[in-house]
Amino acid sequence: MKDLNTFYIRTYGCQMNELDSEILITQLKARNLAQVETETEADIILLNTCSIRDLAEKKVLGKLYEYKKDKKDKIIGICGCMAMSQKETLLKKFPHLDFLIGTNNLLDITKVLDDFLSKNTQMKKLDIDYEKELENFYATRDNKIKASIAIIRGCNNHCSYCIVPQTRGKEVSRDSKSIINEAKYLANLGYKEITLLGQNVNSYGLDKPDQNYLFPDLLYDLNKIDNIDRIRFMTSHPKDITKDLMYAIRDLDKLCEFVHFPVQSGSNKVLKEMRRSYSAEEYLEKVNLLKSITPNATIGTDIIVGFPNETDEDFEKTYKLFELIEYDTAFIFAYSPRQKTYAARKFEDNISNEIKQKRLQKLLKLFHSILEKKYKALIGSKKEVLVESLNKDGIYLKGRTREFEKVIFKGDKSLIGKLQIVEITGFSYQTLKGKVI
Ligand code: SF4
Repeated sequence: MKDLNTFYIRTYGCQMNELDSEILITQLKARNLAQVETETEADIILLNTCSIRDLAEKKVLGKLYEYKKDKKDKIIGICGCMAMSQKETLLKKFPHLDFLIGTNNLLDITKVLDDFLSKNTQMKKLDIDYEKELENFYATRDNKIKASIAIIRGCNNHCSYCIVPQTRGKEVSRDSKSIINEAKYLANLGYKEITLLGQNVNSYGLDKPDQNYLFPDLLYDLNKIDNIDRIRFMTSHPKDITKDLMYAIRDLDKLCEFVHFPVQSGSNKVLKEMRRSYSAEEYLEKVNLLKSITPNATIGTDIIVGFPNETDEDFEKTYKLFELIEYDTAFIFAYSPRQKTYAARKFEDNISNEIKQKRLQKLLKLFHSILEKKYKALIGSKKEVLVESLNKDGIYLKGRTREFEKVIFKGDKSLIGKLQIVEITGFSYQTLKGKVI
């Protein structure tokens, strides 16, 4: 049997995938394997993949073709959403691929590895149901300041363009005691900030109506934990953002005043074809309610431009809504059809790339002008920053405000891991600049 000592893992996609990689790393280290920084040094290569957009998948396929040329005796595995969305097709297409691990089988990686080694044939573990295992999805993390905790997995929404419900299954909320215990465990380890993760965190507890314990309830309990300075959550579906959650953002001292509020489009016709289950008016009403209850809250969003049949008028409605709300962060993407999704089956991808890019650039230009106006107004103000690390240039410290703004400033490395009040002195692009007060 081949001697295995090292592994390399590459993560693509969202924060949930980042956390899943931390859980996989925990499993592999428990099997006395050492993590290495390059594929060359590794006995095992693991790609934790994303299927949300064409580009993410193309990157992984490129890697698999590359490995075909010089695999030598390395073991190659794919996990994450591509394993779930493409299943056996991947194994057939890439005979040099050794195993597939599903998004819900993170705890099965060492068993699959052993089975592969003993049987020397392609292996896969791709269960869609995993409820019983959920409480054991523990991770050891490299970052010692911020940590993500998955509170709910899967998604019950069926947005027409999205593959996630097929790759992560239905919503399953984690037991609140287990979440609170993990948060206390992290607080005792000195973590300052926790981010609660889910494809749709706001529907936490809805799948367990008998418990009558919903997302705001969990936030109030987590806010009682000592030593945690900040609580964040990601990602929300607008239909499940409630008044109770808005009050929690206003009233809980640790809950940061930033809400990621994906709108996707400002046109009701497009929202209907996306199956987003809210209208632009209903969405705007919730944003205005949030702003009235927590005036200093900042709002982020996701937008898809160039969805099938999106007309100039439809796009103008998205542009107008963006202009009205003045988002603080925005992730803007051009539509790319995902195989096996309703939209890919139902609609022709009939908006040219040229038009998609034109609309994307127009919205990005608007976003930057809004940020410029907002950041100019912040000059001279004081912001609390959780100092995360040295910036890439090694000269500045970097961190984020409660409102999720990125800030860099000069200061002593001993400030890393601490909350520091910073006076804003300027900005460039999406980063504020400041000086220590
Ligand atoms: S809410 Fe919609 S876009 Fe988000 S993960 Fe679920 S199906 Fe996908």
